[in-house]
Amino acid sequence: MFRFFENLVDPYTKYQNTDMPPRTLFSFMWQYSQPFKKVFAWAAITSVIVAFVEIGLIYYMGWIIDILSSDPKKVWAQHGTFLIILAVFILFVRPTIHVINVALMNNTILPNYATLYRWRAHRHVLRQSVGWFENDFAGRIANRIMQTPPAAGEAVFQVFDAITFALAYLIGAWIMLVQADWRLSIPLIIWFVLYSLLTRWTIQRVGPASKASSDARSTVTGRVVDAYTNIHSVKMFAQGNAELDYAKQAIENTRKTFQTEMRISTKQEIGLVLLNGLLVVGVVGWALILWAQAEASVGIVAAATALTLRLNGMTGWIMWALSSFFRQLGVVSEGLETISHPIEMTDIKNAKPLKITNGLIEFKGLSHHYGRKSGGLSNVSLSIMPGEKIGLVGRSGAGKSTLLKLLLRFYEVESGSILIDGQSVSLVSQDSLRQQIGMVQQEGSLLHRSIKENILYGREEASREEMINATKKAEAHNFILKLIDMEGRLGYDAHVGERGVKLSGGERQRITLARAILKNAPILLLDEATSALDSEVEAEIQKTLYGMMEGKTVIAIAHRLSTIAQMDKIFVMDNGSIVESGTHTELLSKNGLYGSFWTHQSGGFINIEKN
Ligand code: ADP
Repeated sequence: MFRFFENLVDPYTKYQNTDMPPRTLFSFMWQYSQPFKKVFAWAAITSVIVAFVEIGLIYYMGWIIDILSSDPKKVWAQHGTFLIILAVFILFVRPTIHVINVALMNNTILPNYATLYRWRAHRHVLRQSVGWFENDFAGRIANRIMQTPPAAGEAVFQVFDAITFALAYLIGAWIMLVQADWRLSIPLIIWFVLYSLLTRWTIQRVGPASKASSDARSTVTGRVVDAYTNIHSVKMFAQGNAELDYAKQAIENTRKTFQTEMRISTKQEIGLVLLNGLLVVGVVGWALILWAQAEASVGIVAAATALTLRLNGMTGWIMWALSSFFRQLGVVSEGLETISHPIEMTDIKNAKPLKITNGLIEFKGLSHHYGRKSGGLSNVSLSIMPGEKIGLVGRSGAGKSTLLKLLLRFYEVESGSILIDGQSVSLVSQDSLRQQIGMVQQEGSLLHRSIKENILYGREEASREEMINATKKAEAHNFILKLIDMEGRLGYDAHVGERGVKLSGGERQRITLARAILKNAPILLLDEATSALDSEVEAEIQKTLYGMMEGKTVIAIAHRLSTIAQMDKIFVMDNGSIVESGTHTELLSKNGLYGSFWTHQSGGFINIEKN
C-alpha cells in the first residue's frame, strides 16, 4: 500500500527547464505543483469528505439522544437497520476514506513534493555562473536549497490537511446548526467573522516575520560555514574571537526575529481563547434557551454542545496550521531569492557547439571591470596562433587570471570579444567550450570524493589504464598508491577531504595535472601550473607538460624562468592591459617591465613583486 502511494508521483519527472523561473511565490509554487495536480485534487476531495463525515457523526449523536427519549422497546424495531448501516459506515467506510486522505498527504505529497523541489532547485542553481556563486555565501545558498523544499511541502500539506478540512467543517457545522434551528447559527457566524479578523491580523504579521527569521538563519549559516571552510585563515590569524563576534551578530539577529514571531503567536493565542469562550457560551447558551422554550430537543442541545466543544479544540489547531502555512510560505519566498533567480549567463538559442579546427584564439578590445568602473581588464587585444604557446607575465592583480576566466566564459565579457577559430565564446554552447579547454590551476580544487572520481572528472569514460597512464605522466601514480583515508580506503579509492585539503599542495597539483592530461583538450591553460611542486618533481613534470603542450594552443601564466623560456611569445600585463609583448630575447632588449622582472630574478623565478 505504501509503495502505491509513494510512487504516485515521480519527483524526477521530466520538465521544461526555464532560465527565467516565475518570480512570484504563487506562480512559482504552481509551476512546481504541476505533477501533483491529480493528487492535490484527490487530497482536497477526501479532506472535504472527511470533514462532512465528522459533522455527520455529531449530527447522528444528537439523533441517537433524541431516539433514546422515545419508547425503548420500539427503538430497535424502528431504527435497527439504520443503526447497523451507521455502525458499518463508522467501522469500515470512514476509516477507508480517512486512510486514503492521510496516505495521500503523508506518503505521496510530503516526501515527493520536497524531493521534487530540492532536485529542481539544485539543478537550477548549479547552472548559475561562477560570478553568481562568488556574489553569495555557499552556506547561504545551501541552506536555502535545504530549508525551502520541506517548507514548501509543509505549506502544501497545510492547505489540504487543515485549510480545506476546516473550511468544509465550518460549512458543514453551519448547515447542521441552520437545520436544527437557524438562530443557532448566528453565534457561529459572529464568531467566524471575528475569528477571520484575528486570522487576518496574524497572517499579515506571520509572513514577513517568518521571512525575516528565515533570512536571519540563512545568514548565520552563511557566516558559520564561511568560517569553517576557511578554518586555516581563521586559526592562522588568530581571528577566532572576531569570527565569534561576526557570527554572534547574526545569531542575535535570529533571536530577535524569532522573538517577534513568538510575540505574534502569544497574542494570537490570547485572542483565540477569548473568542472561543464567546462561541461556547453563544451556541450552547442559545441552545439552552431554545430548549427551555421547548423549541429545541435534548438531542439538538447535545449536538450543538459537542460541535462547539469540537470547534473549540479545533480552532487552535487551525490557526496554528494557518500561521504555519504562512510561516512556511515566508521561508519559501526567502528561498526563492536564490532558487528562482534567473540564469543570467545562458547559451544563446540554438547555440552551436564550438568546433576547433586549428586553435586560433583572438581577444579583441576586451574590457572587463567586474561591474565596477576600474580594475579587471581594459582594452586587451591579442591573438594566439594555432599551436602557439604563449606566456602571460605580470604582477598579481594585473589581470592574468581574468583573461583566462573570460576565455572560459566564467563571466560575461563587459565589452569586446573573444574568438576561438572565428567563433565567439559567448555564442557557442558553454559545455562545448569548456570541454575543449584543459586547465591546470595553481590552486587546483578537488572535490571531496575519491581520487579516481576526481581524475575521471577530466574524462568520465576513460579506462582505468588511461587514468593510470595520466597519473604516471603527472608523477602522481606512486604517491596515490600509498594513500589511505580515515575510513581505510586505499589508493585510487581514498577520499581527499573537502577541496582536497588532506593532500599537500604539490600532490593536489599533480592530481589536477593528471585530470588535464586525461582530458587532452586542444586548448590548454596553465595558471602557475607547477608552482606548488618541489624542484625534483617539477623537472619531471615540466617534461610531461611540454609533452602535453604538443600540438595545442597554450596560454600559461608563469613566473618560473624554465617555463617562460619554453614559450613562443610572452605578453606582459600590468594594470589590466598588455604593456609589452615579444619573445624572451626581444623583451629583454626592450629593457622595459619584463626587463626589470628579469633583472630582479631570484631562485628560478622572475621577480614580479619587488620592482
Ligand atoms: P592576476 O591573475 O593577474 O593576479 P586577476 O585577474 O586575478 O589578476 O585580477 C585582476 C583584477 O581584477 C584585480 O584588481 C582583482 O581585484 C579584480 N578581480 C579579480 N577577480 C574578481 C572578481 N571575481 N570580482 C571582482 N574583481 C575581481
